[in-house]
Amino acid sequence: MTGRAEPSPWMCHICGYHSRTEDGIACERCYKITCRRHLRTLSVLNPQSGLYEFQRICALCQLKAKT
Ligand SMILES: [Zn+2]
Ligand SMILES: [Zn+2]
Repeated sequence: MTGRAEPSPWMCHICGYHSRTEDGIACERCYKITCRRHLRTLSVLNPQSGLYEFQRICALCQLKAKT
């Protein structure tokens, strides 16, 4: 036991890119870790507040949202 906390490696669920030096970002729809290339910040209408808010959504969820 070293007792030293190392950043855990993550992998993009779309392209398989993995890293432990950069931060992986979780999609706000499917909560899967996604790399920066496959994550977009979109303005999404919140039906509860009636306001647009920014969400970080992965490419797969963007495709699903269009259909
Ligand atoms: Zn990716
Ligand atoms: Zn997603």
